[in-house]
Amino acid sequence: MPSRRGCGRKVRGMTADEGTPTIHLLDPSEAMKIAAGEVVERPASVVKELVENSLDAGSKRIRVEVNSSPRQITRISVTDDGIGMNRADARLAFLPHATSKIRTLSDLGNTLSLGFRGEALASIAAVSQVTLVTRCRGEGCGNATRVQARGGEIVNLSEAGAPQGTTVVVEDLFYNTPARQKFLKSLQAELAQLTGALEALAIAHPSVVFQFFHNGRERLATGRGPDLLEAITDLYGNEVAGDLIPLSADHPLVRISGYISTPFSPRKTPSRVLVSINGRPVFSRQILRAIRRGYGTLLPSHTYPVAFLDLLMDPSRVDVNVHPTKRHVRIGKEHEILAIIEEAVRECLRSEDLTPPVQESGAARTSPGTVPAPAHGPAAGIPADFAPVREPSPVSAKMTDMRLRQTELPTGISSVETLVPEMEVVGQIGGTYILARTRGDDLILIDQHAAHERVLYDQVTEKRDARRVSQELLVPVVIRESPREAALLRGITGLLGDRGFIVEEFGKESFLVRGIPSVLGRMDDASAIHDLLGDIFSEEVDTPEDTGERISRSIACKGAIKAGTICTREQCERLVAQLRLTKSPYTCPHGRPTMVSFSKSALDALFKRT
Ligand code: ADP
Ligand code: MG
Repeated sequence: MPSRRGCGRKVRGMTADEGTPTIHLLDPSEAMKIAAGEVVERPASVVKELVENSLDAGSKRIRVEVNSSPRQITRISVTDDGIGMNRADARLAFLPHATSKIRTLSDLGNTLSLGFRGEALASIAAVSQVTLVTRCRGEGCGNATRVQARGGEIVNLSEAGAPQGTTVVVEDLFYNTPARQKFLKSLQAELAQLTGALEALAIAHPSVVFQFFHNGRERLATGRGPDLLEAITDLYGNEVAGDLIPLSADHPLVRISGYISTPFSPRKTPSRVLVSINGRPVFSRQILRAIRRGYGTLLPSHTYPVAFLDLLMDPSRVDVNVHPTKRHVRIGKEHEILAIIEEAVRECLRSEDLTPPVQESGAARTSPGTVPAPAHGPAAGIPADFAPVREPSPVSAKMTDMRLRQTELPTGISSVETLVPEMEVVGQIGGTYILARTRGDDLILIDQHAAHERVLYDQVTEKRDARRVSQELLVPVVIRESPREAALLRGITGLLGDRGFIVEEFGKESFLVRGIPSVLGRMDDASAIHDLLGDIFSEEVDTPEDTGERISRSIACKGAIKAGTICTREQCERLVAQLRLTKSPYTCPHGRPTMVSFSKSALDALFKRT
């Protein structure tokens, strides 16, 4: 058989000239650095692996400390009060595939430990400097061991004094893998990721005391009491915890326990659906879907409940060995298990009194029931069952007026320079599209929301003088965020401020909103502000440019007149006039068209008049 290329591999039986090999074996330390990339992607993975080791060691208290320079994380340390290691184990722990947790792959079927591959410490040590100090249960106080490793090599091993348990300190992370270093996100994004990982582990292990400090300041603390509800309160506040219903379901295949929310305060993202399987935080779209299905029609579409659930199942049914970080798992009998989850959620909601709580005073303002429908007799020729299309309700008209007034600020472009032709508004369709005609009798259709969004966006981005874009709230609004969201928010207060959102830190996870963009008009209730920030958090914070851009777009979207809002002709005219003064009047900030036009000749062609 002719060889395809100069292959230099040794195959038994061939001895003739084999050519020069192009394949060579990697230096073990290089190979280890590559393998490490799978487990240790970023600082958050280091924290996750170290905390998992602490949990596996039966710890009751875990303390995580992170230090950073203005740009990057410089030091991570995890201290536990677990079983510790003797000197021999402390040395072995750094070798690849060194684990105390399984002997053969078949043991995996009955292990409940979070680790088992013996890769984490070796991988972390391959790409950083690690100092491990450990003392095992029963050893005297001065009999602890200190191991120092750098770039995968143990550089120092000595006796030490230490309390029982283990401390692992990681410094110079990725010092020898510059490519990895380069791909790290902003400091705030890394901190948020890391805090999120800790949040998930703390929820999955509510009886363990977790503490997290960043540059000496406490950023997360759980474990005041042994139960999950206390951990939830610690992390997400009373408001979230107060809206929860306990769920527990016993089935031979799976035991489910935890809390789910009432359907009354749905969220736009699934960020507060935290699921763990046998104490391991996992992410599964299928489980998320099953939970939502359990709510059925109680939840508006595109919204999510809050849920904290732990699934206890036979470890032989969970294959955690499908992903390097074990965040995704494969479940045996998945269909049955998903059906059980769905039914458990449904049953839990059925047993609750789900009468909606009485709305607070503010609701009456916009409730359609309290506003008399405009008197609108059927005009000749229009069937009586046609809904009135022109007249907005007085309340809605006032709201629209207010929104338009907010954007009636000069933009510096005079109407002479504008690209958009003058037009006369003919009417509005479906409370969504404005119908207009030009002098030349072209027909123009304008998407009112997209158009107003463009107007708002230009105002938010062009006026960078905070005093002009912001309006001070009479009473500052206090908002409570989760530790992860708080980390994100801390990183973007400057960007928010440039755009009119004046946000200050106020305790560990709370923030004070002192001012909001003036284009948002009178939006002073916490839930609206929270909603807007939720939009901004929903994607991972990346570069400041991207984030700033997203903030501007969210503000524009929230402040703009909604589709479905009936406007008077005068209001439509004001909106068109504002749109004509924008820099790119033809698209909204998301790139969708604000208007489409049909020339007179195109209309003629449609009716075969040519
Ligand atoms: P794995 O967790 O998959 O076993 P690791 O590389 O994370 O692999 O850890 C290697 C071994 O080191 C563990 O199996 C355990 O015996 C020991 N070890 C690591 N961290 C700790 C700790 N915090 N307390 C006690 N033992 C630990
Ligand atoms: Mg481990």
